[in-house]
Amino acid sequence: EVVKISTAQMSPAKNSHDPEWINNAEYFIREKLCVWCRVANGQWHLGKIHSTSSDDVCVMLSTNDDVVKVSMEEIFPANPEILEGVEDLTQLSYLNEPSLLYNLRVRYSQDLIYSKAGPVLIAVNPFKNVQIYGEEFLSAYQTKGLDAPHVYAVADAAYDEMMREEKNQSIIISGESGAGKTETAKYAMQYLEALGGGSFGVENEILKTNCILEAFGNAKTSRNDNSSRFGKLMEIHFSAKGKICGSKLETFLLEKSRVAQLCNGERSYHIFYQLCAGASPILKERLKLKAASEYNYLNQSNCLIIDRTDDAQKFHKLMEAFNIVQIPQEYQERAFALLAAVLWLGNVSFKVTDNENHVEVVADEAVTNVAMLMGCNSKELMVVLSTCKLQAGRDCIAKRLTLRQATDMRDSLAKIIYASLFNWLVEQINISLEVGNSRTGRSISILDIYGFESFENNSFEQFCINFANERLQQHFNRHLFKLEQEEYEGDGIDWTKVEFKDNQECLNLIEKKPIGLVSLLDEESNFPKATDTTFANKLKQHLNANSCFKGERGRGFRIKHYAGEVLYNTNGFLDKNRDPLHVDLIQLLSSCKCQLLNLFSTKMRHEFLKPATFSDSMNQSVITKFKGQLFKLMNKLDDTTPHFIRCIKPNSNQLPGLYEENHVLQQLRCCGVLEIVRISRSGYPTRLTHQELAVRYGCLLLDTRISQDPLSTSNAILKQCNLPPEMYQVGYTKIYLRTGLIGVLEERRNYVL
Ligand code: ADP
Ligand code: MG
Repeated sequence: EVVKISTAQMSPAKNSHDPEWINNAEYFIREKLCVWCRVANGQWHLGKIHSTSSDDVCVMLSTNDDVVKVSMEEIFPANPEILEGVEDLTQLSYLNEPSLLYNLRVRYSQDLIYSKAGPVLIAVNPFKNVQIYGEEFLSAYQTKGLDAPHVYAVADAAYDEMMREEKNQSIIISGESGAGKTETAKYAMQYLEALGGGSFGVENEILKTNCILEAFGNAKTSRNDNSSRFGKLMEIHFSAKGKICGSKLETFLLEKSRVAQLCNGERSYHIFYQLCAGASPILKERLKLKAASEYNYLNQSNCLIIDRTDDAQKFHKLMEAFNIVQIPQEYQERAFALLAAVLWLGNVSFKVTDNENHVEVVADEAVTNVAMLMGCNSKELMVVLSTCKLQAGRDCIAKRLTLRQATDMRDSLAKIIYASLFNWLVEQINISLEVGNSRTGRSISILDIYGFESFENNSFEQFCINFANERLQQHFNRHLFKLEQEEYEGDGIDWTKVEFKDNQECLNLIEKKPIGLVSLLDEESNFPKATDTTFANKLKQHLNANSCFKGERGRGFRIKHYAGEVLYNTNGFLDKNRDPLHVDLIQLLSSCKCQLLNLFSTKMRHEFLKPATFSDSMNQSVITKFKGQLFKLMNKLDDTTPHFIRCIKPNSNQLPGLYEENHVLQQLRCCGVLEIVRISRSGYPTRLTHQELAVRYGCLLLDTRISQDPLSTSNAILKQCNLPPEMYQVGYTKIYLRTGLIGVLEERRNYVL
């Protein structure tokens, strides 16, 4: 009897007309096998197929013996019990969505927050302390006494491979906001510090720098009380003896808008609240500092504190970290003065002076304090904030700004001061962690970067983030593809029977010159008269041929990303991309009696106001800069052996013990776990050595004289079972089985025993 097994069980797509699945269903009825069945409320239940009609199936649920009638599309084969809670999802015989979800749930309920999907580590955020970190576990993984999936195991593998092959490694961590990326990155660093600690003294600094970065780059959002608002790459260098000898930090796309504008219930960067709560009375006096609630930039969102978080105490931790990183006292104070200046800027107000809404700055405490803290003349500051200089022929005239323009100018000043301060801190950290004679072959880079985002309203920021993820996904695919290919070829398996999908089409849509999304965006941004509507129209006009693009009514467009379709709204795209920087502001900064501000202004001059050349008549746009950074990042990663960690957020309430299936499923899709599983499925997911096969299924042989040679035994077993030859391949060391086959073997075995 030849058993047909469906191989098309991954997508929730229509499978009712798939003849293979019909056969499969018959097989499942006959053998009374378990299936997953989606009942009316959308939940998956285990059950057994009772009977089938043309389109429907009756399933008896295991929980209560109820019989429900569902359509064929709501049914997926379940895995045999021996596969329950397996460490590696690709070990599952049926790789459908309910099976993956169930497997992760079983593990999560036992606090097994780590699992694998092939070469990828999956980390499900526990939202509570799980006793799997610290001394004992660090040494257990170091001595290889433990090999259960763990971030320590990933770091350990990276370290070993680096030492063995003298090849740079990377640990690429992704996941949505609040999924646990930053914590996971810290555990990876902790492991590497424990392993590579010793002679140089830098190793303790690396973790400490996180405290500085988090104070200045993290904020409470609706999704995560400690959300990183920037991406980061931490490169740790090792000596020939495997000791840490330095490290280097690179950051991406800090969210500047948060300095001036907050959503209800969210906070600005932690540092502002920490400073207000923790500064000593002397410092407070010097900075004219008040309580956080007094500042418009902080009090606009009805959220000043975070549960279970002591901002004052964090401030003291921060000062310690500053000292460890050796930022001189004097510079620390300058940095605090600039933070206070930013806060006071938010309180600067304007009064309308004519009926065209033109304004002047109200000369109050706020503007005086800003001028004092920045070290500039308050009259000058008032002029810069309320006028703009226009070139009229040879003359330069000052034109009054409207209320809206003046507010933008003020916020823009606050944002550039803050962003410059952040970049400066990163530089200071880098100086203190600097690698002596590092360079090649022995480094591990840890990437903690925002994951794929798809919200109700998606704008420029989501576009940048998803662009980065699309690139990372390509990197991921290629790596996986290569790994698979190597394994197959190494074992003498025919490689051509495995197909892989790439996301090149989507990347072309974004990156292609001269008519990709990025080029078109820059072109429009360069056009003074262009608007978000003309930009949207331009996209629709030029990009329709790409199958990943879909124009929408009005200012919308859709991109088919690897992780799903996203609807973008072009509102604000041009402005955010131009990120205009007024020459007047740069001039103001250079005139200040503050070394930091002078430094910032020089930097900005270099970066933004490069002398216009024929081809480069515009300041570099945000997207072009980002693309350049991304390009450099990808080049760097290409030079490493990657290790992937995908973080999953089990619920949106940041609660322990709550596993919301739909939420998890969506992330499995977004972070490419389904993709990995799909890739494995397109090949031969189950791999057993000949020895393993012979031991477990030898009982199926009628001829009991089992050969001594595992290869011929396993061949004999497969022949005996009459399995269709396209369902498996025999390698030198292993046998490769298509989806579902292991279940068949298990059933036969149960039957015989
Ligand atoms: P992300 O960087 O992905 O936005 P975080 O790493 O900041 O997310 O994690 C969000 C929160 O989840 C943390 O503040 C912490 O409370 C919790 N968390 C994350 N990972 C773990 C872990 N391994 N163990 C315990 N709690 C965790
Ligand atoms: Mg984070």
